[in-house]
Amino acid sequence: MNPVFPPPAVVAVPIAGTDLVFPVHRIYCVGRNYAAHAREMGADPTREPPFFFCKPADAIVNVAPGTIGAFPYPSETKNCHYEMELVVAIGKGGRDIAPEQALDHVYGYALGLDMTRRDLQTRMKESGKPWDIGKGFDHAAPIGPIHRAADVGHLAKGAIWLELNGTPKQKGDLSDLIWSVADTVAYLSKFFALVPGDLIYTGTPEGVGAVVKGDRMRGGIDGLGEFTVDVV
Ligand code: MN
Repeated sequence: MNPVFPPPAVVAVPIAGTDLVFPVHRIYCVGRNYAAHAREMGADPTREPPFFFCKPADAIVNVAPGTIGAFPYPSETKNCHYEMELVVAIGKGGRDIAPEQALDHVYGYALGLDMTRRDLQTRMKESGKPWDIGKGFDHAAPIGPIHRAADVGHLAKGAIWLELNGTPKQKGDLSDLIWSVADTVAYLSKFFALVPGDLIYTGTPEGVGAVVKGDRMRGGIDGLGEFTVDVV
């Protein structure tokens, strides 16, 4: 069969230290996965199972090693926030995955930014409507290269941080994740059949805040290095 227009290019993320790429299937995101961030969003972190939202795969903005990424300031917002996150890359699919087996499904890890039009998210949240316009917009998912778990191991602790224009804004530790990587993969796989190529943004520590055009975000996670993304 002939497509009526050229099919969209496959979105792919480079794999660190190789000339391979990780083709992206879906982007899942976990909401409020650090207690202090849940509190700053007005939620009670002790009473909630993990919840998920999605971004389209083509929201990815690759930040190649040794380069500075570019995040175009999005339309229709006056309050666009950074959320520095650990991204889990799924390399082996499955459903109803047991937590004890979940890490076997993880191909690797990356630095990610869950960019958020907070004003639109808040408006939708308050009226009980979906978050898509707040979370799933174009360029909403900057990501660094994927580091293979075979190279860096599985990440359960270590600093996760973000600086804005050189000023520290976010500082947390992966050990503070309410739902660990294994728990998150296992829980998510109850609702969706995971397939190779899925990415999971695992949530952000406290200290989220707004950016404006011209800002420079610099973020890092122990074991994955750091990256820099400019708001353009
Ligand atoms: Mn987030």
